[in-house]
Amino acid sequence: MVESIPHFIGGRRVAGTGRTAPVFNPATGRQTGEVALASAAEVREAVKTAAAAAAGWGETTPLRRARILNRFLRILEERTDQLAAVITAEHGKVLSDAVGEIQRGMEVVEFATGAPQLLKSEMSESVGTRVDCHALRQPLGVVAGITPFNFPAMVPMWMFPVALACGNAFVLKPSERDPSAALLLAEWLKEAGLPDGVFTVLNGDREAVEALLADPDVQAVSFVGSTPIARHIYETAAKHGKRCQALGGAKNHMIVMPDADMDQAVDALMGAAYGSAGERCMAVSVAVPVGEKTAEALIEKLAPRVRALKVGPGTDPEAEMGPLVTRQHLDKVRSYVDAGEAAGATVVVDGRGLKLQGYEDGYFIGGTLFDNVTPEMSIYRDEIFGPVLAVVRAPDYATAATLINEHEFGNGTAIFTRDGDAAREFAHSIKVGMVGINVPIPVPVAYHSFGGWKASLFGDHHMHGPEGVRFYTRLKTITTRWPTGIRAGAEFVMPTLK
Ligand code: NAD
Repeated sequence: MVESIPHFIGGRRVAGTGRTAPVFNPATGRQTGEVALASAAEVREAVKTAAAAAAGWGETTPLRRARILNRFLRILEERTDQLAAVITAEHGKVLSDAVGEIQRGMEVVEFATGAPQLLKSEMSESVGTRVDCHALRQPLGVVAGITPFNFPAMVPMWMFPVALACGNAFVLKPSERDPSAALLLAEWLKEAGLPDGVFTVLNGDREAVEALLADPDVQAVSFVGSTPIARHIYETAAKHGKRCQALGGAKNHMIVMPDADMDQAVDALMGAAYGSAGERCMAVSVAVPVGEKTAEALIEKLAPRVRALKVGPGTDPEAEMGPLVTRQHLDKVRSYVDAGEAAGATVVVDGRGLKLQGYEDGYFIGGTLFDNVTPEMSIYRDEIFGPVLAVVRAPDYATAATLINEHEFGNGTAIFTRDGDAAREFAHSIKVGMVGINVPIPVPVAYHSFGGWKASLFGDHHMHGPEGVRFYTRLKTITTRWPTGIRAGAEFVMPTLK
């Protein structure tokens, strides 16, 4: 049965009135849903509903907002498995990984339940005689989030818990490839006590996004997705005078130093390169062993592990890696493997031939490992977003670090070493936003902030943590004088406080 996937506007599911797009189960290749694609007119109406709700929500005390988020957190805890099943059915990732993304998202909700503390402001007494100064962080109004397919629950939860805690109404435009998780989140927020209209789900594609970017009531836009779209979103939002944070693609390198614990490094690479079939913005897609001996040892230990990867539908508890998200994406990943081979890289493990009995129409590819990759190859330059690991051999640490610093992307990176000097130098000078020392996927915890450098982020603010609170609030600074008994007379010079 093909299910109709609607919007969520004004506290209820609302059917679309125009175009739709098919949604597939990536493990079987069968269509399971038909998602509504909002028109510009539908976006305008939904944003007006959100704007009407924003005023009251902004006046709700932070403690009351926090209580609603607390109830939402408890619902998420109780129904994690239900949400994970929905994610796996449309995204394809293995269930345990879907549970993991929900848990990381819940940590942001937990952070946002600290709203009263997070919104406490600064005050300076006696900045002049009987003059005080204090700062307020006020909500923006309606803010929008546009999210990618690869984390249908976690990435929205990087955004909306903080936005709601700060007193904004939130309009979410999820990926049209796996839109159902967002609807569950919307219903559970309502059940937790969120007033109607404060959280909206608008399903759609480019048309809905363009309408949100131009909408006069949308004050700020958070985006996570590929770099070309991130750049476009940032430029368009700026043209319309909106605040914007747009997170883009990645090519994350992991340096393996000669003194690294090789077993630990190989374990780390397996999870970081092949977990979620490489469809993570923090996946490691380039391993850089330093020195020929390190490279030989790494390939020797890695290759059998990649060959032994258990690939299967996300519902199979034995599977370590599920299918890719769509047929088109599978074709794209395959074509990158073809291009790498044609460019002269050594195909150590080739996942292209994988066939799974009973899942012949699923979007599966096996883990793939390339050696002797060089910086001019497309498999090195481009984000493939699949289970493809490129090994680039470097003669020394300086060459390895230069590779990373000169790459277009700067999302995450890691070094595996026992050498404190090398680790310290790496953390200090590498031009990347999130750095791991013997940690392959250094996604910051909810009370720190997530974001890359270079073409991995357009804008000034990273997501969640203190940066999220700054992004979703506007600063107002108030200077107060109670001049009992003081008469200064008119002053025509720039006021200085005495
Ligand atoms: P995508 O850029 O194709 O889509 C992201 C969102 O933008 C979706 O909601 C989509 O509907 C919308 N969109 C697509 N084309 C558009 C257009 N022409 N105009 C306006 N809106 C458009 O990304 P994706 O394939 O869904 O996700 C994978 C990408 O996301 C990868 O590049 C990955 O690195 C990136 N990502 C980055 C981070 C990060 O934190 N930096 C996190 C997760 C994913």
